[in-house]
Amino acid sequence: RPRVLSGIQPTSDSFHLGNYLGAVRQWVALQDDFEAFYFIPDLHALTVPFDPATLSDRTRLSVAQLLAVGVDPARSTIYVQSHIPEITQLTWVLSCITGFGEASRMTQFKDKSAKQGVDAAGVGLFTYPILMAADILAFQVDRVPVGEDQRQHLELTRDLAQRFNSRFGKVLTVPEAYIVKEFAKIYDLQNPTAKMSKSAESDRGLVNLLDEPKKSAKKIRSAVTDTDTEVRFDPENKPGVSNLLTIQSALGGTPVDVLVDKYQGKGYGDLKVDTAEVLTEFVTPLRGRVAEYMDDPAYLDGILAQGAARARSVASATLAAVYDKVGILAPR
Ligand code: ATP
Ligand code: MG
Repeated sequence: RPRVLSGIQPTSDSFHLGNYLGAVRQWVALQDDFEAFYFIPDLHALTVPFDPATLSDRTRLSVAQLLAVGVDPARSTIYVQSHIPEITQLTWVLSCITGFGEASRMTQFKDKSAKQGVDAAGVGLFTYPILMAADILAFQVDRVPVGEDQRQHLELTRDLAQRFNSRFGKVLTVPEAYIVKEFAKIYDLQNPTAKMSKSAESDRGLVNLLDEPKKSAKKIRSAVTDTDTEVRFDPENKPGVSNLLTIQSALGGTPVDVLVDKYQGKGYGDLKVDTAEVLTEFVTPLRGRVAEYMDDPAYLDGILAQGAARARSVASATLAAVYDKVGILAPR
């Protein structure tokens, strides 16, 4: 079976709607037809300000959320990035074939370093995309389901794989991005032209799956729309309204055009109230399941141990082939 791989950073106590609709929901569906590798990039989480006291909890919480939304450890390999040292070893080799100018063109670094202040941003934030390339290339994967914000990093990953193969001999599979157009970008409710993000300055436009449903419902009801009154799917001119339609449609299973018909002659109030209700119905049982998993850390750790063993067997074979091709003397 072809392979699929993706990750979600433990940089928050909860996945948000963008993470879920843009990425993790696809992970669940892809398990059927692909050999899946899903992981928690805890080393990537060190590239932005973080709290050592919460990182390991957030890592377990991320695993609990993956299980709660339907990632199945019997079919998918679930692991923590730092448990696979071969990934960081491969990062070094890849960083030596990455151009400084090429790395400097990554827009995520520009965005995130501007937030931290360019002097405060670490070199790790700059080399983030190379670690991400190693995450992917270590596993010889065919497809990588991500949101639109990761397209440029995927392009770099493909370039590095092709460059390595043509310089040293074919070892690495060149992966393809898998981006589902409708959900590629879920927007901030208060600023509907910016992506919903864990690291946004304000969390007023951020809907976290594990937040109190009442709190999220309130955020949805106060979402920014526009001065018009017509409910129409028009991301260009009506980004706020279109975002709510996308969210309600995805979570409730009603096609967008059916929703648009339903709201003809009604105002934005109904759209918001219904969207909040659909969200509440979705997150309430999910929160319960996550709480159950969090009550059993030994079970979560067992899944991660099993995942790490499987993941290391694949990554160590790739690393050995890479070292061999670049001429590194193997220890005897
Ligand atoms: P940060 O802002 O700290 O980078 P994040 O919200 O982007 O956090 P990540 O862990 O970096 O979260 O990303 C996990 C996955 O979620 C990635 O595949 C990313 O493309 C996707 N994703 C993140 N935000 C959105 C969004 N607003 N819409 C759709 N997909 C998203
Ligand atoms: Mg991100």
